[in-house]
Order: sequence, then C-alpha cells, then structure tokens
Amino acid sequence: MVRNFWSYFCRGRRKKFYSLLLLFLVLLNAMFYVSFLLYTTIQKRNKKAWHERLQFDQDSYVDNSGMRVVVGHYVGGNSGGNLSDDTINSNNYAPISGAGEGGRPVQLSPREVITARELYPLHSYNILVSDRISINRSLPDMRSESCRNVQYDIENLPTATVIIVFHNEAWSTLMRTLMSVLLRSPEVLLKQIILVDDASERKYLGKELENAIVNLGKVQILRSANRTGLVGARLMGARAATGNVLVFLDAHCEVTQGWLEPLLDRAGSDDVFICPHIDLLSDDTLAYTKSIDAHWGAFSWRLHFRWLMPSKEVMLTKTENPSKPYPTPAMAGGLFAVRKSLFWRLGGYDENMTIWGAENLELSWRAWQCGARVEITPCSRVGHIFRRHSPYKYPGGVAKVLNSNLARAASVWMDEWADFFFKFNPSIAAIRDQQSVAARIELRKNLQCKSFKWYLDNVWPQHFFPADDRWFGRIRNEKGSCLGVVSGTPGLGGPAAGVGCGGDLDVERLLVYTPDGRIMADEGLCLQQGNGRAVWKSCNDSKKQIWNQKGPRLKTQDGLCLTQLISDSKDGINDPLTAKRCVNDNGQIWHFERVPWR
Ligand code: UDP
Ligand code: MN
Repeated sequence: MVRNFWSYFCRGRRKKFYSLLLLFLVLLNAMFYVSFLLYTTIQKRNKKAWHERLQFDQDSYVDNSGMRVVVGHYVGGNSGGNLSDDTINSNNYAPISGAGEGGRPVQLSPREVITARELYPLHSYNILVSDRISINRSLPDMRSESCRNVQYDIENLPTATVIIVFHNEAWSTLMRTLMSVLLRSPEVLLKQIILVDDASERKYLGKELENAIVNLGKVQILRSANRTGLVGARLMGARAATGNVLVFLDAHCEVTQGWLEPLLDRAGSDDVFICPHIDLLSDDTLAYTKSIDAHWGAFSWRLHFRWLMPSKEVMLTKTENPSKPYPTPAMAGGLFAVRKSLFWRLGGYDENMTIWGAENLELSWRAWQCGARVEITPCSRVGHIFRRHSPYKYPGGVAKVLNSNLARAASVWMDEWADFFFKFNPSIAAIRDQQSVAARIELRKNLQCKSFKWYLDNVWPQHFFPADDRWFGRIRNEKGSCLGVVSGTPGLGGPAAGVGCGGDLDVERLLVYTPDGRIMADEGLCLQQGNGRAVWKSCNDSKKQIWNQKGPRLKTQDGLCLTQLISDSKDGINDPLTAKRCVNDNGQIWHFERVPWR
C-alpha cells in the first residue's frame, strides 16, 4: 500500500516535480500556521502585565489549592564558605541601565550563573543580580483600585521613624531599601531613618556606607559594639527615635508607592501593631512579585511561623472592604509599624532574645493578650526577599539560640500550651530552666494580660492545637498502621496513607480530633475525603473533612467508612486510605489511643 502510493507520485519527471511542489506547499502552510499560533499566544500573554504572568515565585510559597504560603524554616550558619576575604568585603555595585526596572526580573548569562551560585551563600540571595539593579529602581504599584482611592489626611498623620537593622547585609540591597523609603515617603511624614548596624564585619559597611548617606539628610547610622541580634539592634533604634511611630524594616526590602500612609493612619490609633502586605522579591532574580492576596500569620506545633489562609470572617470583610486592615494571629516580624508610646508601654522587646527567632511570636502574643491588636493593611505593599537559609553566624549555635528564644516566649505567654510545647520538644525543655524570665512574667502581670486560652479562643479559633475540649492521641487501624501525615514540605499535605505508629512522643503521629469530627494534624492539615483516595489538606469548613465516630468506625457525611487499604505490606503502612462502603473489614476498624497533651 505504502509503496503503491509513492510510486504514483514518483513516476516520471513531471510527476516528481509536482509531488515536490505539493510537499513544498504543505510545508509552507504549516509554517504559516505555526507562526500564527505563536503570534496569538504572545498577544494573549501581553494583555496581562508582566508581573501577573510571573507565577513561579508565588508557587513556591503556595500549595496546589492556593491555600497556604510556607516560609520561615531556618537553617543558619553559612557565612560565605570558601570565598576570599577580598570577595566578601568588596562592594561590587555596578548598575546597568534598565536592569530590574519596574520590578522586572534580571536574568544572567549561563556563565554568570556559575559565579552567582558561588556567591549565593554570602547573602542567601543573588548578589550579582542585586548589584546590577539601580538602588533607585522603579517598582510596580500592586495596590488594589480601592486602596489607590483612599485619601489620607497627611497633615494630621503621626510622623515616622524608620528603623532598618542589619548584620553583614549586601551594600546594594541595604541601599535600595533605604532609597526606596526616601523616594516613596511623603517628606512631612518621614521624621528620620535610623540604620542600626549589628556589629557587621564587612568593610563596605564601614566608612563607605557613612559616606554614602552623609548627604541624604534624615538618615543616621547607629552601631552596636557587639553582635546582639535583631531584637537588641531594633531596641537601639527605637531608643533613638524621635518620630511618633516606629516603622521597622528588614535590610532587604523595597517599599512601593503609598506604603507609609496606611501604616501611619492605622498606627495612630495607639492600640495596634500594623504590618504591611508583604510582597515577594525573588532571591534569584529580584523580581517584585505580588504575594497571595489574603494571608495571615500563625505558627505550627513546633512554633515555626506559618502563613495561612485567613478565617472565613476575615475573607468576607476583605471582599466587602478590600482596603480595610484585618487582624492576624501573628506577624512575620520584620516589617511593622507601631506607635512609639504603645511599643514602650507594652514592654518593647524581650531583651534577652538574641540573634534571630521567636521575637515575632512573643510580640504578637503580648500584643493580643495585653489589650492591643496585630493587623495587616492590604494598602501598604512592601517587597521582602524571603531567604531559604540564614546567611549569618549564630554565636553559640543555631539550635541553642533558637531554642532559648522559643523557650522564653513559650514559658512567658503560652500557659498550658507551653507544657504541650515542652513535652514534645524535650531538647528545648532541657534549657527551659536556664532562662530568667521573671521580669517578663512581672510585665505580664502588671499589664493584666489575658490567658493563652483567651488568645486561641478569640484571636485564632481556627487553630489546630490540642485543647481541653478536643481529643488528642493516635488513631490506630486494626491492621496495624496509624493515621498520620507522610512527612514532606511542612503544611503541603498530599495523598493519605497508613504510617508507622511510633511512640507517645512521636508528634508526627499524634492527632487532634475535634468535637465536630475533624481529624487535625500539625501544620493545620485535616484528613479529607478525596475523589477516591483520602488526602491531607488545609483545614477548612468543607463537609469532606468531617469524620463521625460510629463505634469503631469513622464515617463521612454520606455514610462511607474510612478504610485502610492493604496491599502486600499486611499492616497497611504506605498503603492508601480511602472512604468506602462500610463492610465487615478490619481496615475500617479504628482504635483511638489517647495521649495526654501536657
Ligand atoms: N539581623 C541583625 N542581627 C542579627 C540577625 C539579623 O541585625 O543577628 C537583621 C537582618 O540583617 C535583617 C533583620 O535582622 O535585616 C531580619 O533578619 P532576617 O532577614 O535574616 O530574618 P527573616 O526575614 O529571614 O526572618
Ligand atoms: Mn528578612
């Protein structure tokens, strides 16, 4: 058949010519078609602003369902590896015209990427790219229409002292933070900018930095003689502040148009710690990308900070009034504004927290429990480079520093939940008694602050911690496996499978079972009836997350039974979980083994 076909075309010279012509025409047509397709897709893409097309940055912080942003998992201690002193101490800022303007990403050539990778550990972001972008670069305006329409009575807003603390920051990112504030803050509102150098060792942060700011007016540098950490450094700045409102920023931020007014407007009321909406500056390209519209801050059982989906009520008010500040259980910590008088009245910071960590939770709990609030205003947009690792040293070791800070925060503010935290974190419990927190407990008493239970019940009723009206323990299947999240990226969930049961301190295997039938794990994951297989998903109001205990069975709303499927493993470990018709099957028999949570 095939041969006959070709022999028809290829018989004789003339036939050969026509067949070639035909082939040529077909190819020509195909080429036109492909170019047309390309053209229309490019047209389609160009209708959206470039930053709306950039998805990758956001994806790395948001799960598949778009529900959750995960940051703040820290491993510290790398300060440049084998790089030479010369490399570490030189300032290579050399802006290229147009690079990164409008918040666009900067791409490097393959050869430059190699250098950039070598230098990456120095700051945990791409310093080669940062050094190419002008410290005065322009940025997109990410505010919603309704935010742009708000009129502020500038004359009557309180004034601001902006405090930027740094330790061994790159010159270009630090200066870009500073310049963005100078460029985009109304003259009358900006009283001063205080840079606090937390004992940096880099040469370019010495005289060279002083020379750079000498003519900027309003800007001053304070230097800490010893490495104290962000708390000590911020306190140093706060003590020198002359403005009405303290505005704290990390040293790798870029503020956008109209950022200051909404912060000062809200901070003026004297009962609130107000945070901007934090956008993403890519650690690789420095592109300014919108972060998910609605997020609020909270924390995991291990007290790691997490971004979560706000409550239903918050989402509702956000839709009704997109420019209104909304409450959040906790703040990320680096970027916020507060009236100076309130900051000091509530006890500043816990001065004995060193280097980094837990101060954001301590401050958030203190604010809420002692009569103030923590809020986010969607109208103030500030970009921040979220780093995957801490680039600087933790004197005494990362674990010791972090654990001490956490121990302090938990023992002062968490009441019964401190016992929960220490019970399941024995290495932190071991250093609990080394902390002298008497002064902070005294402060809590003097301010007549409310309990942690009040905080959970009123500020974060959607929390996933155990409580006295919630069952806590291990849920074991008759066949041997237990319910539990297969560990992976914190908070990301995924298909549910049987896991090994572990002991009473194996917090990964322990679950909260709420009176309304939700099975909750750490990180705010709930067991959900999926299409076929059961999955671990962010807890929400879905009926698919309700499992009613009927005798030894766990039943869905439509009467199906939670079933541990069994393959070769016999005990069900690693085998899928699903909701099936209830039958006489041991895979549907569940034992609730209570474990005291404190
Ligand atoms: N910082 C400091 N001293 C320290 C650790 C951090 O001054 O010992 C500064 C750091 O330069 C940054 C801010 O505190 O400006 C917050 O630290 P980082 O950005 O590392 O925290 P993250 O934003 O990653 O939580
Ligand atoms: Mn930071």
